[in-house]
Amino acid sequence: MRPTTDVKTEGCPHLLIIYTGGTIGMIENPATGSLEPFDFEHLVDNVPKLKRLDFDIDNYQFEKPLDSSSMNPGHWVDIASVIEKHYDDYDGFVVLHGTDTMAYTASALSFMLENLRKPVVITGSQLPIGEVRTDGEENLITSLQVAASREEDGTPTVQEVAILFENYLWRGNRSTKYSADNFNAFKSSNFPRLAKIGLGICYRRDILWRVKDAAPLIVHRGLDPHVMYLSIFPGITESVLRHVLHAPDLRGVVLKTYGAGNAPTDGWFIDAIKEACDRGLVIVNVTQCGNGKVLPHRYETGSALYKAGVISGHDLTSEAAITKLMFLFGRNYPVEEVKRLMEVSLVGEMHE
Ligand code: ASP
Repeated sequence: MRPTTDVKTEGCPHLLIIYTGGTIGMIENPATGSLEPFDFEHLVDNVPKLKRLDFDIDNYQFEKPLDSSSMNPGHWVDIASVIEKHYDDYDGFVVLHGTDTMAYTASALSFMLENLRKPVVITGSQLPIGEVRTDGEENLITSLQVAASREEDGTPTVQEVAILFENYLWRGNRSTKYSADNFNAFKSSNFPRLAKIGLGICYRRDILWRVKDAAPLIVHRGLDPHVMYLSIFPGITESVLRHVLHAPDLRGVVLKTYGAGNAPTDGWFIDAIKEACDRGLVIVNVTQCGNGKVLPHRYETGSALYKAGVISGHDLTSEAAITKLMFLFGRNYPVEEVKRLMEVSLVGEMHE
């Protein structure tokens, strides 16, 4: 990553923009017609209004800006490390990121940055910043304003990882990308918005996350990627299910079930799941529905999974469930502890 620094002015909020790539900074390759990531200078040149903000802004850019589809846990560690290194130097951080995996990055960072007390606002855009109708300019400027916002006692208004997109500020680990073309591309179906962005920015102060103990920031870099999604569907076969559950080195599965956490009760299905749980695989039940939660005992079909050893993911998003598994396995907790922690809220990712 490449740092650029400006001279700081006393009294102004000091903000760091971390540019990782994404559509916001892309330009069209004239030879192929495809959008490709471009550098930060191009992005800044297209937002002259940045100079009118009364903030001291520095930036850090990934050596090679990425389409976020190419992001992996190593990149999350890079972002977390930049925040850790500069934590005391800045009042807030704005991460520019592609929308495709933004909810994964936001969820992962929320677990990795323990005791975060400063704003980490992740944003991007649906149209590149160089386009006339771009949503990137507004998203960037508003994110900087959110990152700079202070309460009367001088503490940051937002003290968590959040996603800002168009009219809303969402809790990062509660968000999902739901539209490939709406400017309001993100949703948080099971948790209210942290702020509504209109003429003003109206924060929901009653639900903003606050760390309980006055402990310093701890960055957890260990992430175990030996996890996967398994989305069930009518007609899923025993051979496919068993094959998947026997994938080498697999430690955790986010099982995407129907409705309130239901799955087939065929003997072979429950047997295969039970065998996997007995072998020490952690299987977490989340719903395929965009909204609502797993109720393990509402139906016999869900109850059978629970008895087989499956853990309830309650109202976790898929993104939060899979990154939480990576995080907990990365902490080297024993299986029983991973299971216990999957069912409690660590950083507001699930209903307590
Ligand atoms: N493919 C792009 C990305 O995630 C999409 C976007 O930024 O909106 O990097």
